[in-house]
Amino acid sequence: MEDCLFCKIIRGEIPSTKVYEDNEILAFKDINPAAPIHILVIPKKHITSLAYLKKEDEILVGKIYSAINQIAEEQGVKEKGYRVIVNCGKDGGQEVMHLHFHLLAGKQFGEKIV
Ligand code: AMP
Ligand code: ZN
Repeated sequence: MEDCLFCKIIRGEIPSTKVYEDNEILAFKDINPAAPIHILVIPKKHITSLAYLKKEDEILVGKIYSAINQIAEEQGVKEKGYRVIVNCGKDGGQEVMHLHFHLLAGKQFGEKIV
């Protein structure tokens, strides 16, 4: 997508600190971290949000979770734990309209939403 911020990061038009990349997935550090480790994991294919996921994307989402686990292990938080958040749409607090998974770690999250 031409004007999408994360598509621009994927194309290298906006710099990012990459922590993982394969042919379908990119992960990079969040510019405004909410935890000591805050990484965004995104599909290279533009998907607007979780709400726009198609049947054909089901395997890709599984791969994203596998990538998240690999990154968590590389970051040394596999055993301590981590939180994965997907904000979806306006009420869900989504600001960048390209599906992304927040990987948060390095502190204990006290606040329980659910
Ligand atoms: P969300 O509110 O779920 O849409 O999350 C968007 C996230 O993107 C926020 O945590 C921002 O800090 C992050 N963000 C925005 N611009 C950039 C950027 N250029 N590089 C890395 N992270 C970014
Ligand atoms: Zn995009």
